[in-house]
Amino acid sequence: MQEEIKQYISVILKEWQPLRAELPQNVIVILRNIAEEQSDNLAHRFYESLFKDPAIARHLSYELVEEQLSRSLSKWVKAILTQDESQFETLAQQQYHVGGVHARIGIPVEFVQRGARQLKYGIYDYITQHNIETELGLQVMHYAAMAIDIAIEMMSHAYAMSHYRATRNEEAYRMHVLMNNAWQEQGKQQSALSSWENSVIYGLVSGVHQSEALIKISDSNFGLWFRHKCVRQFGETEQIQQIRLLMTTIDQKMASLDITTDIPVEKLQDLLRIIHACCQKISTYMEMLFNDVSHMQDGKDALTNLLNKRYLPIVLKHEVSLAMENHLPLSVAIIDVDFFKKVNDEWGHTVGDRALTHVANLLSDNIRASDYVFRYGGEEFLIVLVEAGQSEAYMLLERIRRIVSSTPFEAVSGKNLPITVSIGYTVHDGHPDYNQLLNRADVALYEAKRNGRNRIEQHK
Ligand code: GH3
Ligand code: MG
Ligand code: MG
Repeated sequence: MQEEIKQYISVILKEWQPLRAELPQNVIVILRNIAEEQSDNLAHRFYESLFKDPAIARHLSYELVEEQLSRSLSKWVKAILTQDESQFETLAQQQYHVGGVHARIGIPVEFVQRGARQLKYGIYDYITQHNIETELGLQVMHYAAMAIDIAIEMMSHAYAMSHYRATRNEEAYRMHVLMNNAWQEQGKQQSALSSWENSVIYGLVSGVHQSEALIKISDSNFGLWFRHKCVRQFGETEQIQQIRLLMTTIDQKMASLDITTDIPVEKLQDLLRIIHACCQKISTYMEMLFNDVSHMQDGKDALTNLLNKRYLPIVLKHEVSLAMENHLPLSVAIIDVDFFKKVNDEWGHTVGDRALTHVANLLSDNIRASDYVFRYGGEEFLIVLVEAGQSEAYMLLERIRRIVSSTPFEAVSGKNLPITVSIGYTVHDGHPDYNQLLNRADVALYEAKRNGRNRIEQHK
């Protein structure tokens, strides 16, 4: 068992052991009675409450609960209520085991906590229904509640640890696979797609289809790769969903034709056209997926080449702790392009995109080497100014504001558009939560917009 877990257990047992050691005999007897008479009932109550929630019912099948989980929960309740200190070490290890299992099978820890409330409720009901004298009842309830909480806390710790490990591994795995051979993979899969398309077109046109079943795209090598690897590596993105829809369209169209007889020419042409158009779209979506990845490789945003927002938490966490440890100032600014919608509306999205790149370049060319610029949203940027307090941040940002407003952006040849930005910034005030910096800079930005744009405001 890992050192970290051992330490955690030893801390918790120090709390649990004296509680149990000091229990009077009559309390122990009642706890034992509850365990004997009620543990099945309590287990039933636990799962009954969980099944009321459709989100939980999805995780658990009724049979699984009836056959296995209820029985082990009943045993769990018995053990928690009745075992003495000599068995705590084993009991603790069991909690880690269960927490790990829950993490792997995806039963969120809050479900267990919700069920545990029902256990306490059940014990409370037992005490009131059996006319147990108040002082004694309180002692029973106190121990039972503490013991359940302690066990669940250990379970949660195990859950959080395996969940964290799993997420980290998942991320590392995805990065590894994607980054190492994105180009190669893209080429391979594009060619798998076109080879499916070619063979189907050949089959349809030459009449081979009458003797051999045409392979559906979802059963092709490309389809297999998509289902097993692509979805896993890229996650459920917009492009993935589109590709899935296009594949379904193709397969449905093919299935709707009777390929055992001659297909009328118009229908055949229609089908070929659809297959080709869908494959082209799939190909474009794939390109988009892989493009994003190759830019993510170094953490860059695809359009502007600035840092991608997903890395913002890492940078801010690091800079906030550096600022706190070393008592250094730190400022964060959010920069929003003024009336940007107008640029898009009047000149089109492509010119809009170029305008964003234009601003992004001005930002990265005019910050200090130590600072970070992120693409924060559509036409919003975020700058982390390290070791910069109020006046220094203002100076740096004012320079940026001036440069943006005075550098022409050529929308089309010979036509310059004025571009300005509004800036909201804030100085770190010692709070460890970097979200506060973001919220305050945002409020300041709103002020800058309200006060007329092309200006800077500070949130104090
Ligand atoms: P304001 O001065 O209040 O900021 O006005 P605005 O028009 O800039 O404000 P708003 O936030 O309403 O509009 C932002 C627009 O930016 C809307 C959206 O279409 C556009 N946009 C967001 N991301 C992109 C992008 O990547 N490319 C292009 N071309 N436009 C984008
Ligand atoms: Mg905006
Ligand atoms: Mg704007």
